[in-house]
Amino acid sequence: MIVGIIRKTSDSSVYTKTEVMRCQLCFFPFYLLFFFYSVDSSLAQISINEDEQQIQRSQFPEGFFFGTSTSSYQIEGAYLEDGKGLSNWDVFTHIPGKIRNNENGDVADDHYHRYMEDIEIMHSLGVNAYRFSISWARILPKGRFGKVNPKGIEFYNKIIDNLLLKGIEPFVALYHQDMPQILEESYGGWLNHLIQEDFLYLATICFNEFGDRVKHWITLNEPNHVAEFTYLRGELPPARCSPPFGNCSAGNSDVEPLVAMHNMLMAHAKVADMYHRHFKTTQGGLIGIIAFAFMYEPLRYEEVDREAVNRALAFNIAWMLDPLVYGKYPAEMHECLGLELPRFSNSDKELIRGSLDFIGINHYSTLYVKDCIYSACSMGGDRPVRGFLSTITERDGVPIGKPTAMPRFFVVPRGMKKIIEYLKQRYDNMPIFVTENGYSPKIQHDEHVEDLLQDVDRIKFHKAYLAALASAIRDGANVRGYFIWSLMDNFEWASGYSVRFGLYYIDRITNSLQRIPKFSATWFVSFLAINHTQNSTTKRSVKPLKPNMIHSTVEAAKIAANM
Ligand code: BGC
Repeated sequence: MIVGIIRKTSDSSVYTKTEVMRCQLCFFPFYLLFFFYSVDSSLAQISINEDEQQIQRSQFPEGFFFGTSTSSYQIEGAYLEDGKGLSNWDVFTHIPGKIRNNENGDVADDHYHRYMEDIEIMHSLGVNAYRFSISWARILPKGRFGKVNPKGIEFYNKIIDNLLLKGIEPFVALYHQDMPQILEESYGGWLNHLIQEDFLYLATICFNEFGDRVKHWITLNEPNHVAEFTYLRGELPPARCSPPFGNCSAGNSDVEPLVAMHNMLMAHAKVADMYHRHFKTTQGGLIGIIAFAFMYEPLRYEEVDREAVNRALAFNIAWMLDPLVYGKYPAEMHECLGLELPRFSNSDKELIRGSLDFIGINHYSTLYVKDCIYSACSMGGDRPVRGFLSTITERDGVPIGKPTAMPRFFVVPRGMKKIIEYLKQRYDNMPIFVTENGYSPKIQHDEHVEDLLQDVDRIKFHKAYLAALASAIRDGANVRGYFIWSLMDNFEWASGYSVRFGLYYIDRITNSLQRIPKFSATWFVSFLAINHTQNSTTKRSVKPLKPNMIHSTVEAAKIAANM
């Protein structure tokens, strides 16, 4: 294999053809793999479509976790209550123009005060798991140099205890985009290695306080998404980037995403090492991480685009998972980035290799990929940090799947099976949890609440993605759980409240923040109840219900059952 390192010529944005060819040639062994994937999955597609109608809980293994997901900033609110410190998101959302309609998470879904009702709702759905995240600034308002906030500890203790009382297993993420603002201001957050110690400090407190009851820990939600959207595209706080990726007041999109990811990976490694050495024996839990995991397909029926698909997977997913499993960045990245890729020292390698008990993935969609070695690309696709590729949403004017409210999220159920297959092959069938999968309908201007509640498309989405997941499991994938994003509509980051992923609608029109079940909540109840235990059906009804908004549970259930 030719080992070539792509480096900039004197003109910093130009790469010689020989150099990029080296980058490309070293991927040769992966061509064949991809070919087999494509053939295999096009056949699998036929059965997925048929299976969609029949999807049942009994097609998943015994002990499989079915849950819903949320995150602290997106639902909690109470942003300055009971000793909580300011987070990076509290500050960012208050800068005019950053968020659609200048909305913020000051109140969000008021989960901080309504958590009991929300747990009751989950119980009425019949889920056996719930994934949520801890607000770092609620536990440690000033990071490791300040005091622990006892009210923060109390809040999460109450959530964990009440979940367990209802038979719902807590899956707890230590970080989901929000961190104490003071860490950002004092040393630059994820760009500084000091954050590894702060994160370790937070994690140790959480293991000590909650670890007797929490058996599934997630260190970080989507480091790859944070690196890209914060430090390459500059869309999330502290919004750093450089052209051609965006126009930020500061930042370097070619370098900072790599540095931030390196610090996140080392932070994970230190926390996992701490857990494995000091807590695992007594507490008996598992520790994993979550990757934002799109699937990719070649734009053109050409070899170069198939190779670009392999690079897309390496630059997006293996970027974070290879170091945690194998102790090194993917070869595909080394070839393109050379010395610009941060290095793991020998002791770092010891710490990071094998630091995962499970892989979590948030899977929503699939995109087309176009090669940028031989084809002209704009918007930075021709830069090493992007792996010399562009991701594209349509082919010949036809979108890759049904569009949704999110500009880059399309409904492509086959991608679920393909991404699981990729992980299964690359990581030797390590346990996987699908920690997020969800649908948000395209925004209509004359939106009626009734239309949002009668969310037939969301039900179709979940049935189709579940069918693809069941098919992957039948083929031997070691998948252990599936979480719907999200329990309820919530603060969708830069899109504010206009993008809705929930099984429950939150009434912001009257400001009551009442939780109102959508049809999909009723469908999920019936999906979870039927065939749960030896074909017995547990009788449940979703709560709470507002008769004037949804005709009747019976009608909703009938519709849901026939979809
Ligand atoms: C994030 C969630 C977000 C969802 C939908 C996921 O990648 O973890 O916080 O709400 O995508 O955009």
